[in-house]
Amino acid sequence: MTFADLGLSTEVLRAVEDSGYTTPTPIQEKAIPYVLMGRDVLGTAQTGTGKTASFTLPMIDILSSGQTKSRMPRSLILEPTRELAAQVADNFENYGRYTKLSMALLIGGVSFSDQEAKLDKGVDVLIATPGRLLDHFERGKVLLNGVKTLVIDEADRMMDMGFIPDVEKIVSLMPPLRQTLFFSATMSKDMRKLADKFLMNPKEVEV
Ligand code: AMP
Repeated sequence: MTFADLGLSTEVLRAVEDSGYTTPTPIQEKAIPYVLMGRDVLGTAQTGTGKTASFTLPMIDILSSGQTKSRMPRSLILEPTRELAAQVADNFENYGRYTKLSMALLIGGVSFSDQEAKLDKGVDVLIATPGRLLDHFERGKVLLNGVKTLVIDEADRMMDMGFIPDVEKIVSLMPPLRQTLFFSATMSKDMRKLADKFLMNPKEVEV
């Protein structure tokens, strides 16, 4: 199996090649085709499995064929920590380098002004921690009703850190008709119950 077999565009394949990846990891092999089909995905995978590329690569493909309206990003990736969000943003920039997609990283601990300046210009993708995203929303700096693809990453950690009420609030601000990808390192009964709230008829992938 090669990355080209997965149905990714040439822009994405070039970036993958630059990264030095030769073969997709198991989670990439399983998840990428479903994401490209527009399906919801319930993924059980830990960090280190290549999980990030399993959602960022197809998202870049999906986003490349469309346009973003001002203050209405089309994709949102939620992460539990600043560090994870920053890592995913690095990956996104790297994999999206042959596209014109723009991204804002919305995390706490840094000033609002740079993030607001980016939002003012309009971005295709938000990569955010829940609290800071809600801060921007409450300041009227971003709208979520244009989000067509949502990623809830590291959902078990989101739960451990008490972020689920924020995640639910964020999801309530988005259109119900959207694609949702939900990843967790573990898939307990509680996790499944939570996933059920956000996903519609998901394809399940596990590594
Ligand atoms: P992640 O699980 O997303 O945190 O990725 C773990 C590490 O694997 C990162 O350093 C990626 O750059 C790397 N990686 C992701 N996909 C591949 C691949 N198909 N081949 C080799 N390395 C990869």
